[in-house]
Amino acid sequence: MNILVVGGAGYIGSHMVRLLDSAGHKVWVLDNLSTGFMQAVTAGELIVGDMNDSELVKSVLGDNRIDIVMHFAACALVGESCANPAKYYQNNVVNTLLLLESMRATNVRKIVFSSTCATYGIPDKVPISEATPQQPVNPYGFTKLVIERALRDYSQAHNFGYAALRYFNAAGASPLGGIGEDHTPESHLIPIVLQVAMGQREQVTVFGNDWPTLDGSCVRDYIHVDDLADAHLRAMERLKPGTGIELNLGTGTGFSVRQIIETCREVTNVDIKSVDGDRRAGDPPELVADASKAESELGWVPQYTSPRSIIETAWEWHRNNPAGYGDTALAEGQVE
Ligand code: UDP
Repeated sequence: MNILVVGGAGYIGSHMVRLLDSAGHKVWVLDNLSTGFMQAVTAGELIVGDMNDSELVKSVLGDNRIDIVMHFAACALVGESCANPAKYYQNNVVNTLLLLESMRATNVRKIVFSSTCATYGIPDKVPISEATPQQPVNPYGFTKLVIERALRDYSQAHNFGYAALRYFNAAGASPLGGIGEDHTPESHLIPIVLQVAMGQREQVTVFGNDWPTLDGSCVRDYIHVDDLADAHLRAMERLKPGTGIELNLGTGTGFSVRQIIETCREVTNVDIKSVDGDRRAGDPPELVADASKAESELGWVPQYTSPRSIIETAWEWHRNNPAGYGDTALAEGQVE
C-alpha cells in the first residue's frame, strides 16, 4: 500500500516508517521538521512541509495515490499545552482538520491517528479501559480528544475508516540503531535519566514524593516504540470505511518514577543521582492501560514487557548518539 506518514521524522513516526518499509509498503513522509529530524527518515520519500498547506497535501495524496494516512504530527507536552494552549489548538486541532479536509478532497479516507491516555484525565480506576470516561485535565489531552470526535463524525458523515490509538508512555528505540528519542529541551523521564548517566546532567528530579502510589512517585505504563508501530500496522490492515476503532496501547503494567530510575541504574551501571522535587502541574498519579481490547481486536501483544528491556534499547541509542541527531556542542550545552 501507499502510505503517507505525517510527522514521520519524529520519534514514533520514524519507527513507523522503518516498520512500514520493512513490511513492503511504499512510504512518503510529510514533516515540517519543527521537532523532527531529516536523519530520522530511514526509508521512503521525505517532503518537507506543513499539513496545513492544503495544496501541497492534496498533491502529495493525489499524485502518489496514497491509500492511508498515518498522523503523528502533533505537539505533545502537557506542561507546554497548559502554558501555551493556542499552539496546541492551532497545530493539533486546526491543522489536523485541514489535513482531514485535504484527505476528503482527494478521496483518501483511511487514517491511523495518534491519540493518548491523556484524553482520560484522572481516571477513577486503573487499569484504564477504553470505556473509561474521557475527561482530559490539560489542553494537550483535550485537543487529541477533539480529533477523536471529529474522526467519529467523519466516519459517519464521510465514510472515513479510522483507528485512534491511545498511547501510554512511549519509550525505547529501534534495536537496529540509527533512530531514537531526541527532544530539545528534553522533558521525558527515561531520556533525562540516561542523560544523567552520560554526564550530560547533574541529576534527575522526581516530580512529587507524596502521590498515593507504592513509593510516592508517579506510576506510568511504558510501551516500546516498536510495539506501538506494530499496533499501527495491525490497525491499518483492519481499517474499514464508515467505522472506527479506539484502542489503548500499553503493556498493562505500571512502574513508578523511582523504579524507572533504579532500572536505569542497573542497565547503565551508573549511580544516577536523583533528588525529590515538587509535583509537576497536570500529572495524574497513575496511568496504566488495560490493553486487552488491542490484543483481542488486533492480535497485538507487546514484545517488550519489562522496563529493563525497553531501557536497554534506549540506552543503546543514547550511548551511540550522545548528542541525539545533533552535534556534540549542542549536547554539551544541555548540561543542567
Ligand atoms: N518525571 C519526573 N522527572 C522528570 C521527568 C518526568 O519525575 O524529570 C515524571 C513525570 O512527572 C511523570 C513520569 O515521570 O510522572 C513520566 O513523565 P514523562 O514526561 O516522561 O511522560 P508523561 O507521563 O508526562 O507523558
